[in-house]
Amino acid sequence: MKREKQEGKKVKEQGGVRLPLSGLKVSERSAFVSLKFTRSNTALLQQIDSYEFWDNSLDYDIWYAPHVEAFRQLSPSHLPISKINHRASPGAPEISHGAYYKAMSINVPQYLLYLSEKAKSHGVEVLKARLDTTKGFPNALREAEELVTDLQSSKSSTKPSCFINATGLGARALCDDTAIYPVRGQTVLVKGEAHSTITRAGEGYRAYCIPRPESGTTILGGTKEEGVWESEPDDNATEEILRRNAWQVPELLTGPGGEFEVLSVQCGLRPARTGGPRVEGEVVGGMYNVVHAYGHAGAGYQNSIGSARKVVGLVGEGVAAAAVVQGRQAKL
Ligand SMILES: Cc1cc2nc3c(=O)[nH]c(=O)nc-3n(C[C@H](O)[C@H](O)[C@H](O)COP(=O)(O)OP(=O)(O)OC[C@H]3O[C@@H](n4cnc5c(N)ncnc54)[C@H](O)[C@@H]3O)c2cc1C
Repeated sequence: MKREKQEGKKVKEQGGVRLPLSGLKVSERSAFVSLKFTRSNTALLQQIDSYEFWDNSLDYDIWYAPHVEAFRQLSPSHLPISKINHRASPGAPEISHGAYYKAMSINVPQYLLYLSEKAKSHGVEVLKARLDTTKGFPNALREAEELVTDLQSSKSSTKPSCFINATGLGARALCDDTAIYPVRGQTVLVKGEAHSTITRAGEGYRAYCIPRPESGTTILGGTKEEGVWESEPDDNATEEILRRNAWQVPELLTGPGGEFEVLSVQCGLRPARTGGPRVEGEVVGGMYNVVHAYGHAGAGYQNSIGSARKVVGLVGEGVAAAAVVQGRQAKL
């Protein structure tokens, strides 16, 4: 709560919708809407009713209120809060405050497929390899350069003019960034699409549901465990996620005994970074142009378009600067 309060204040001071602490401009809503219109037949994303609930009283500004559509605050007497509080087990905490707005829900597997198809249609070739992180970043870049040059050898011998380092948690070992740490998150995929997205924050827990557009499934969450590297799901956490979400999304209790129909349980490590994401250019070892783009924590999808735009600009600047240096060296 305290951290969210600080982030909210920072955003307000900057006078716009910005990624807290990162300085990246967020223009995803309009960008995602245009994505939808260029891909009308596919279940990629959907504008959807969205609720945020808090068990404790809210003592900070909801910074995004002016930037989302149809925002309004809700009291415990408003629907659906009154119904959720009524359904909860006796003695369970109650929601004391809520907010409603229209949000975009992304079908992430479809979104990743879309991005990869789009890249390939622009001539991108995909080569998968694990770079050795034990000999320093310049050596890892040399290794990457060799891999790319080998791939191109039949066509040309051009060396890469820029590398984009989007290695998430891997950046900790690859470029010795000790500010990188995991935020473990466990989720449960269930059958059916919830009518809205819901995020609830309570004392020591959070419970959320995000329907995946036109997939017939919904993601239920979830945990946020800072600094935990364990990636195996935990049965107690699964039970807790299902129990808390049962009060919030009764429309998905479609099992024979009135329970959720669980399709899968998964656990992931969000690549967080003290000080926020790193999206900046660097010349490594005096010769490799690198644009870093990692550390987006739990917001990598929602910030993907804004972040990618910034990366494209930085790549252009780095390549142009390198061309000037090469031109000067050629004249000497
Ligand atoms: C439970 C959970 C909930 C989430 N909820 C949301 C949400 O609500 N909204 C949202 O926007 N996002 C959400 N996310 C997304 C997530 O938090 C990240 O922001 C996103 O996945 C980061 O993507 P990335 O491409 O930067 O990093 P990653 O997906 O981690 O990719 C890094 C890649 O680098 C590769 N790599 C690393 N080291 C090396 C090496 N040495 N050599 C070669 N390759 C290497 C890795 O193999 C990997 O493929 C959630 C994630 C989790 C786990």
